[in-house]
Amino acid sequence: AEAALVAAWSGPGRTADGVDVAILANVADGASARSAADAPVEGIGLFRTELAFLDRGDEPSVDEQTRLYRDVLDAFDGQKVVIRTLDAGSDKPLAFIEHPDEANPALGVRGNRIAADHPEIVRGQLDAIARAATETGSRPWVMAPMIATAAEAAQFAGMVRERGLTAGVMIEIPAAAILARAILAEVDFVSIGTNDLTQYTMAADRMSAELAELTDPWQPAVLALIAQVADAGAELNKPVGVCGEAAADPALACVLVGLGVTSLSAAPAATPAVGAKLSTVTLDQCRAAAAAVLQTTSPTLARRAAAEHLDD
Ligand code: PEP
Ligand code: MG
Repeated sequence: AEAALVAAWSGPGRTADGVDVAILANVADGASARSAADAPVEGIGLFRTELAFLDRGDEPSVDEQTRLYRDVLDAFDGQKVVIRTLDAGSDKPLAFIEHPDEANPALGVRGNRIAADHPEIVRGQLDAIARAATETGSRPWVMAPMIATAAEAAQFAGMVRERGLTAGVMIEIPAAAILARAILAEVDFVSIGTNDLTQYTMAADRMSAELAELTDPWQPAVLALIAQVADAGAELNKPVGVCGEAAADPALACVLVGLGVTSLSAAPAATPAVGAKLSTVTLDQCRAAAAAVLQTTSPTLARRAAAEHLDD
């Protein structure tokens, strides 16, 4: 019965009692955006731009970048598209950006931190996005990865708004989640990256198979931080999305909605199961599940507590 429900689900994202929750796709380039357009998604919640340039030895020109962003915007004409600026460094080094030799690259110059030494790279990317937006008549949202402070968020938002675009940041560093209200005051929206938020909250490398228990996004400490961010978003009336792997887990997606998250972005193949599950539960059930997981002390107990409210 469950498989049939998943196969039949065609969107949009909505709870059983009719509360809309946008279900969006994570994409990496024009081709993956075009194929995501065949999935039952309402837009793109995360375009990881660095993935389009992993094999590049030289910096892509503004013209070349403009073509890439146009491709992605054309695939989702008239729909929501969230473009993330380069998240280079650590597990995703880019050949055309000089990465310093670091003992701990995950804690080093990665993501938006390259802007300090290479502001021209961020400016070129934002120029290309702004041009692609004008040429396609679309209004993409633009967000920065690896933001730790409200000052970083304000600086990035300034550059984005100068170009007439909507500005946001990823919340994937615990400091940013703890001060989410201050960060949200500087931007139009945030998107929680649960992969890195879990890694940095638990001090456990996201690539480590041995630490899988710690890198589980059902860790109650991670969920407590997400709750704080969602509360701040509700207070300031600004969207709070999730674009990490947590949004691909149907039960966890319902918990996120219960915590106050307003959109879910995942690999396109994962979205039907998420949408189908959400369509079977009410917002009250999601909220009860969210309250219950916040009382637990382990991923196992959190999953069990959520299931009590979400499964019939
Ligand atoms: C995340 O950290 O959860 C995220 C969505 O970004 P990435 O996986 O690209 O680091
Ligand atoms: Mg990340």
